[in-house]
Amino acid sequence: MARERLYLFDTTLRDGAQTNGVDFTLADKLAIAAMLDDLGIDYVEGGYPGANPTDSELFGKDRDLKTTFTAFGMTRRPGRSASNDPGLAALLDATADAICFVAKAWDYHVKVALETTNEENLASIRDSVKAAKAKGREVLLDCEHFFDGYKANPTYALACAKAAYDEGARWVVLCDTNGGTLPHEVEEIVGAVCKVIPGDHVGIHAHNDTEQAVANSFAAVRAGARQIQGTLNGLGERCGNANLVSLIPTLKLKPEFAEKFDINVSDAALKKLAHVSHALDERLNRAPHRHAPYVGDSAFATKAGIHASAIMKDPATYEHVAPDTVGNRRKVLVSEQAGKSNVLAELERIGLKVDKDDPRIARLLEIVKEREAIGYAYEAADASFDLLARRTLGTVPSYFDVTQFDVNVEQRNNARGEKVTVTMAVVKVRVGDENMISAAEGNGPVNALDLALRKDLGKYQKFIDDLKLIDYRVRILNGGTEAVTRVLIESEDKTGERWTTIGVSPNIIDASFQALMDSIIYKLVKLKAPA
Ligand SMILES: [Zn+2]
Repeated sequence: MARERLYLFDTTLRDGAQTNGVDFTLADKLAIAAMLDDLGIDYVEGGYPGANPTDSELFGKDRDLKTTFTAFGMTRRPGRSASNDPGLAALLDATADAICFVAKAWDYHVKVALETTNEENLASIRDSVKAAKAKGREVLLDCEHFFDGYKANPTYALACAKAAYDEGARWVVLCDTNGGTLPHEVEEIVGAVCKVIPGDHVGIHAHNDTEQAVANSFAAVRAGARQIQGTLNGLGERCGNANLVSLIPTLKLKPEFAEKFDINVSDAALKKLAHVSHALDERLNRAPHRHAPYVGDSAFATKAGIHASAIMKDPATYEHVAPDTVGNRRKVLVSEQAGKSNVLAELERIGLKVDKDDPRIARLLEIVKEREAIGYAYEAADASFDLLARRTLGTVPSYFDVTQFDVNVEQRNNARGEKVTVTMAVVKVRVGDENMISAAEGNGPVNALDLALRKDLGKYQKFIDDLKLIDYRVRILNGGTEAVTRVLIESEDKTGERWTTIGVSPNIIDASFQALMDSIIYKLVKLKAPA
């Protein structure tokens, strides 16, 4: 039997950006969009062009993505024509494949929040869809408060959805904006909508206020909806949105869905899911949720005892799916064998070919374990893991040696009598037989150190001229006076390749120095600079 296509729509960069404490930079948005694209998400909603400089810049760019990159914004304002609404104009001008409009679908909101008539709200939906279609965009309509609106006035809620569909919107998305609707209600209401609008034009956008956003999304699919909207790790305002990281494996691995539906996430992409989830947390400087379904560190962890011994005999005894299908690992008091296969999987992921029986792999595993115990997190720092693996397998040349560095931070009064903090770094480097000394001022100790370090590397300078630091993240581990600092640095070169390196030390400058060194050396290794 042919399977039906089910579409996934990610709104991490728009609704997810509403999360308390989350503030995406342009670089964050581009990196996350690339991860989602790589995963095979059909639609990536980038943000709200015209609403803030980051989103305007994002939508001013051409992006090399396969996904349908979607701009979000409001339908034309009541009482204005579509051609005389600056907000709508910004949306129509955005470089995007699709436009997702949000409109009221609850008559109570139309009256109280929008202060307009039901008919004017319908006209605004029709005009906006028409204007976007005329611009050649695929159109979606988010029906805000659809479920509460349907309970209050089903005829009007349906009329809003129908207005967009009749005008040619590809998708009408039913939003549980307040997140309080229960699965059986979602199933019943979506079922009623699908009698009026074909299910392959109906989407679900669920919030998690009763911890059932994922269940509500599945309820909508059972009732006929064929698009699911959600976010990575369930980011989103209040209690978050439906978590795509939980939805995707269920759709791929549970027969109820896998036998009926095709999604654009391949089996190979599914294996990257744990990595994607953790990479997002690292980017947000958050500790990954250990007990997250499928991808959490503890999702397949079993303490010793009868469960563990049964799992050793046959993993299916206590596992609902195989951990490697989602890129996670089984943890049963990490046996040497299990640890080794983890390291082998990592080596394969970064593209380093090693014989699986090479005895140095056991040594690498030992080093990784020791280092992770003191705070290194190699899952978040591919380039540092790459170097560690190459060093252990004996293939990194020693290009240069930093024989000494000195960072000086001074607060003093300037000529105008204002208090200023001045930072200067001096670095002594030995390249072959040459000794070099460089000094630089920076807007902080790490910046000064970075500038001094990269100022003169002699014959290697030409290899690192295009190296750019694009992100710097610090996390203090285990708190208190004994705390150690973990620094993650993300770098980029003119080819657009990005890599992340790590440093750990009780001293933040030292941790930063390690990460800076790894970044430079990784770049030299990548370009096969002659030793
Ligand atoms: Zn929402």
